[in-house]
Amino acid sequence: MAKRALITGITGQDGSYLAELLLAKGYEVHGLIRRASTFNTARIDHLYVDPHDPNAKLFLHYGDLSDGARLVTLMAEINPDEVYNLAAQSHVRVSFDEPEHTADTTGTGTIRLLEAVRLSGIDTRFYQASSSELYGATPPPQSETTPFYPRSPYAAAKLYSYWITKNYREAYDMFAVNGILFNHESPRRGETFVTRKITRAVARIKAGVQKDLYLGNLESVRDWGYAAEYVEGMWRMLQVDQPDDYVLATGVGMTIKDFLTTSFEHVGLDWQEFVKFDERYLRPTEVDALIGDSSRAQEKLGWTPTVDGFALAKLMVDADVAALEHEGRHWIDTVSLESWSKK
Ligand code: NDP
Repeated sequence: MAKRALITGITGQDGSYLAELLLAKGYEVHGLIRRASTFNTARIDHLYVDPHDPNAKLFLHYGDLSDGARLVTLMAEINPDEVYNLAAQSHVRVSFDEPEHTADTTGTGTIRLLEAVRLSGIDTRFYQASSSELYGATPPPQSETTPFYPRSPYAAAKLYSYWITKNYREAYDMFAVNGILFNHESPRRGETFVTRKITRAVARIKAGVQKDLYLGNLESVRDWGYAAEYVEGMWRMLQVDQPDDYVLATGVGMTIKDFLTTSFEHVGLDWQEFVKFDERYLRPTEVDALIGDSSRAQEKLGWTPTVDGFALAKLMVDADVAALEHEGRHWIDTVSLESWSKK
């Protein structure tokens, strides 16, 4: 019998890569999607097959992390072997504008989903998308034993989700794990996140359809990995005998300025001619430096990242240049690492 997985946040960057991975492994994949007045399934449209087709393996269900009763019904109906909770208001800067909504989705949403698992009485493995933002003001390197010091409403909400996942593991003997993932990006990254904002602007400036790029703090240090590799790590966390929490990171730190330099230089431009400062992009409390130590995942899960932030910047610029050339397409193909590395 094929394994069955439920993914919340399937329409997001990670959800789309995870759905691809699980389908390739022969899973039946169920995804929670929000009803919206416009289509929000662009990242997974290429995976969708009409559910009447006997070969259909991907099934989408309307629901929302704010609707606990719906989650209980769905859990009982789907009876998944694995649940991946990727849904969240995931933007740190936006969490300062919408703190209560962020708490409700990114924090309380997790307890609603865990309760849905518990109340429906199913036997499932649960993955919680925890974040390096939990470390906030604690200096790097950060590992599973580093103390947390959240610096945003987003991080505080994720902190609740981290602990409640751990608590359900201990209180109810659930197989529930936290993946503490450092930033991971891809050509499918949302366009308002800084990496994608940069690579998209590089493509547009090069093509002559954009003049300036407005950014905030350029000195923050981040550890950027490739999302397609990180979803493999998520899956591996649910395949081991004992539930535990794991950091996924590359261990390579770079500033936003480094990412800018790499991205602009990749198309032969100097970022200093185009980038302008806008204080609206500053956060009331900044996180200076996040660089992860993923030794536990490497040792216990055999997970090793191969793409660091410098490689990623070039990969994403290439994808945005190609996407601009084909403007009008609804989603962006992943640039295959193989074809990219031959350049
Ligand atoms: P995205 O922002 O790309 O995707 C978020 C997903 O959550 C979307 O599918 C969105 O749906 C869905 N969602 C938002 N609110 C709700 C809600 N109330 N009910 C149901 N679904 C909802 O995030 P990523 O894919 O980048 O990240 C996946 C998870 O990993 C998130 O929890 C994020 O916080 C966490 N994380 C991400 C990191 C990264 O660097 N990418 C690092 C560490 C953690 P819709 O499409 O309708 O908006």
